[in-house]
Amino acid sequence: MSPVIALHPQTSACADLPVLRERGQREVFCGLTGIIWLHRKIQDAFFLVVGSRTCAHLLQSAAGVMIFAEPRFATAIIDERDLAGLADANEELDRVVTRLLERRPEIKLLFLVGSCPSEVIKLDLSRAATRLSTQFSPQVRVLNYSGSGIETTFTQGEDACLAALVPELPPALQEGQAAQSLLVVGTLADVVEDQFARLLQQLGVPFAFFPPRRAGQMPAIGPGTRYLLAQPFLADTARALEARGASHLPAPFPLGVEGTTAWLWAAAQAFGVSKQRFDEVTAAPRERAQAALGKQRAHLSGKSVFFFPDSQLEIPLARFLSRELGMRLTEVGTPYLHRQHLAQELAWLPAGVQLSEGQHVEQQIDRCRSSRPDIVVCGLGLANPLEAEGMTTKWAIELVFTPIQGYEQAADLAELFSRPLNRRMRLAA
Ligand code: SF4
Repeated sequence: MSPVIALHPQTSACADLPVLRERGQREVFCGLTGIIWLHRKIQDAFFLVVGSRTCAHLLQSAAGVMIFAEPRFATAIIDERDLAGLADANEELDRVVTRLLERRPEIKLLFLVGSCPSEVIKLDLSRAATRLSTQFSPQVRVLNYSGSGIETTFTQGEDACLAALVPELPPALQEGQAAQSLLVVGTLADVVEDQFARLLQQLGVPFAFFPPRRAGQMPAIGPGTRYLLAQPFLADTARALEARGASHLPAPFPLGVEGTTAWLWAAAQAFGVSKQRFDEVTAAPRERAQAALGKQRAHLSGKSVFFFPDSQLEIPLARFLSRELGMRLTEVGTPYLHRQHLAQELAWLPAGVQLSEGQHVEQQIDRCRSSRPDIVVCGLGLANPLEAEGMTTKWAIELVFTPIQGYEQAADLAELFSRPLNRRMRLAA
């Protein structure tokens, strides 16, 4: 029989603690980066960035060039003639889209993704999407969202993409009754999604994932939909879902054993699953994950960690590192602090932790230098200079690309932090 773990453990007063709000220079990727994991998830979608050569370079270098497969993203490059207003960018865009859809009949969903250059020349991609949707319907739906780097951080690209998809979801009304179902919201690696699907099936919870793997599998939504966020950076998507009648299930995020258990329990409770059944279903993966985490705890306990604001995963990650691995939090920075979605995470942080929202990069680097943490979680642009100063770093973006949610991934997530520390120790020996 499983050890019953506390589902409402002691909380700190952290939810009420003041937050250092900063506004200054930021070091983040733009929302185009989200295409890298979104194009893998929705397998018959295509992402056409309307941007510059810089945008194309960002995507190519971040995603790599796909040699063997037809890529599912591209950049329609706005050149000097478009910027000078000498060419009709709309006509050019229509030509590019027509050629693309003729060549690639398997595309069912096309996203026109806005960028800084398309916004600067005020190219109205929403009108373009409506026009092209009418032309290519019903074979292809054309939607648009912005991935521009103006006032965004990179995970907002996924939020904007999913928010654009919400109005496309079919209504969940059956014979006048709203169907009760769970919607898991946020891109998860397929391996993680399969594990959660098995657990939810065993619990008897009716569920769907959003985004789905194919454009034709859009989940139905309505007043009976309870949505559970799998990612903490989906504020706009959540608002759009609520406008369609769905209601939010408050929960921590499924990182680590504790977060995964509380996340699944929120779903189980909402659908009337007994605590006994819940323990029966989750006991074995929970025990396996706890055993695997024990080995990592030996490496990480007592080590200090400093978070620069980057992926918006910082607060759930900090909670996991502190509570399940015994790490010390020197500063936890996040680009945006959504108090409602993060309420349970904030309550699980240790009292007195330094939280910061937004960024003033020079000031934050000064604080990082003076606290000399054992490991720093930061963007790519900061990692090399900090390594050169003798600090050990972890790229925040890697935590978004890697499957880290759920029981089976808990130890892998811990290892992402222990590996660079071990490497540094070996180099110093
Ligand atoms: S969208 Fe803006 S920030 Fe992003 S690559 Fe293009 S120009 Fe750069």
